[in-house]
Amino acid sequence: MKYGTDILKQADVLAAFTEDAPQLTRTYLSKEHKQAGAYLIGLMRDAGMTAGFDPLGNIVGRYEAGVPFAPVVMTGSHQDSVRNAGRYDGLFGILSPIACVKELNRQHKRLPYALEIVGFGDEEGVRFPATLIGSKAMAGLFDPAWLDKTDASGVTMRQAINDFGGDAEKWCELDRRNGAPNSAHGEVVAFVESHIEQGPVLLNDGLAVGVVTAIAGATRLRVTVTGLAGHAGTVPMGARQDALTAAAEMVLFVESYCTQNAGLVGTVGIMSVKPGAVNVIPQDVEFTIDVRSSEDSLRADAINAINAEFTVIAKRRNVVVVTNVFFSSNAAPCDAGLQAQFAQAINAHGITPRYLPSGAGHDAMVFPAVAPTAMLFVRCGNNGISHHPDETMTAEDAEVATSVLLHFFENYQPPQFSASSAQRVDRQI
Ligand SMILES: [Zn+2]
Repeated sequence: MKYGTDILKQADVLAAFTEDAPQLTRTYLSKEHKQAGAYLIGLMRDAGMTAGFDPLGNIVGRYEAGVPFAPVVMTGSHQDSVRNAGRYDGLFGILSPIACVKELNRQHKRLPYALEIVGFGDEEGVRFPATLIGSKAMAGLFDPAWLDKTDASGVTMRQAINDFGGDAEKWCELDRRNGAPNSAHGEVVAFVESHIEQGPVLLNDGLAVGVVTAIAGATRLRVTVTGLAGHAGTVPMGARQDALTAAAEMVLFVESYCTQNAGLVGTVGIMSVKPGAVNVIPQDVEFTIDVRSSEDSLRADAINAINAEFTVIAKRRNVVVVTNVFFSSNAAPCDAGLQAQFAQAINAHGITPRYLPSGAGHDAMVFPAVAPTAMLFVRCGNNGISHHPDETMTAEDAEVATSVLLHFFENYQPPQFSASSAQRVDRQI
């Protein structure tokens, strides 16, 4: 096997860079991020690339084009993980293109564009209250206000970046010098990401790979319901202002609405109840809602319906409800032309192209604002389980996906590009 066995071995090496062995957890700007980055930089250099950390801790490798003033095709995924993660989420999208470059370099083959592989420092948002930090930075969407956000130990992102050996101010200065957002990377003509599916669709269809049509948008809300505490033995049922029973109705409404309207998924994943005593009527309940759809209008309708129904429930139950959106991202459609090129690469491997949307968020979702974007999904074993140590990928599937990705890279023709627009910012790689 040309690529698959090596990629799985490399994923095993990377899984050992963890903050809580034997589980796998690797957060942004941790010691283990640095170790994983150093390992990946070594692989990139061995494959024939220049490589290093950028000022925010992103791992960036570059395989030069065969022609001067060539544009850039960017590919990559995230190095960070959720807590107690699987080992292929994110990492496959870094390791797979490195294997492609290694093969191109072995054949002394250059492309009509520079290929940049990025291991984004943060995508999952586990350490700081922000997500997609690395990819947003690469897309010119880094928000300097994030630097003052703190982790659970009170360390600011600015401090963590500097402790890592990075330079937050330098990044902001580079962004400022290049003017409007995105201009720093305006020469990027395409972004592609390969990623484990994290669901069971390809597995159920018996397919190793598939083409992503769009990445679902998401809205996350924090809901507080305020009632009135009282003695569980003395307050009559009809006279209660029970925040938990009101919240229970609200949770079931989210489920029924998203079940009845195809194309939506809705989840309540966190709930807290106070005062939290067996003999006290609940007064304060807080919970989160996560609603996703690949159609933004469906998601907007769902949020409106949720707010309207929650108001009705609160009024009827004599409690106060407040909802706050704390995260929102629009659906990111994948480029039709790039989807067709991935389909062609899949066909060339004797596999019928399967098109599917991504319910999970990915680094690729920030790039449509900058350049045409596409994603290749790889089959996820074990009923499609992911964000979990039972996540699996076979060496055979890693082989097919890498071969498809290489076919794509070898056949992609960048649009005509003028030398004057090929100026690029020095990202210190
Ligand atoms: Zn991922």
